[in-house]
Amino acid sequence: MTMKMNEMNVLVTGASRGIGKRIAEAFALSGANVVLNASRESEHFSNTLKEFESAGYSVMAYACDVSDPDAVSSMIKAINERFGNIHVLVNNAGITRDMLLMRMSEAEWDDVLDINLKGTFNCTKACVRPMMKQGFGRIINISSVVGLTGNPGQANYAASKAGMIGFTKAVAKEIGKKGVTCNVVAPGFIESDMTGVLPEDIKAKYLENIAVGRFGTADDVANAVLFLANENSSFITGQVLTVDGGMVM
Ligand code: NAP
Repeated sequence: MTMKMNEMNVLVTGASRGIGKRIAEAFALSGANVVLNASRESEHFSNTLKEFESAGYSVMAYACDVSDPDAVSSMIKAINERFGNIHVLVNNAGITRDMLLMRMSEAEWDDVLDINLKGTFNCTKACVRPMMKQGFGRIINISSVVGLTGNPGQANYAASKAGMIGFTKAVAKEIGKKGVTCNVVAPGFIESDMTGVLPEDIKAKYLENIAVGRFGTADDVANAVLFLANENSSFITGQVLTVDGGMVM
């Protein structure tokens, strides 16, 4: 089955702001029907929806916690009613709860694993059967270079992001013959709310190790996601595409 971008129904989790919002916008600009997800109703989420609507994009918004499988099922049902089957799932929702391991609480561990990794499992499981039936699907999981390298203070985050990579490879092997690919995009340092809170000296240290000499943008990540979603990327699956300006190689 072939599928043009302007025929695709695309769900982007964590799309109220930051990287997810930009990914959703890139799909919308290509003419896709786009579903924005965020953890809850908020002013910034409704502002994002308004922005998309006033740009004339085909869009719906659905707030739900991706770590809750029942809430995810209801979201998928609502999307099916509005647009039909999902063709592209971008598992982008993610959080950090940074702390050195010795001081890390169980809640800090559980929250990060539940949202980043179990959320990816919940959404993928809910989308994969119809994708296989229709013979086309693209699952793109937004991990992080931290899942490849580790990072002090981020044992929970690194474990969740490395887990997404193992998950992706296993799923890719299960579903590849049915026209569904599953890949990882692993961003490096991207200018966003998540990295905006870091102290300037830490940011300067990161910059020293980025080969292209600049921080990444949400656009850099969105371009990689659109490349993998394209119908012509059907021979690429189970891969980790780092988008990090040459920080990790
Ligand atoms: P961000 O600005 O903090 O935005 C996070 C998004 O995830 C928001 O839309 C948020 O929704 C949503 N979210 C959080 N918890 C959720 C839940 N339980 N259910 C559904 N949605 C939830 O993050 P970002 O910097 O754009 O990062 C996006 C992704 O890229 C994350 O997976 C992150 O780990 C990854 N990444 C980022 C960088 C970077 O440098 N920024 C680098 C590598 C990887 P609300 O608005 O409702 O909170």
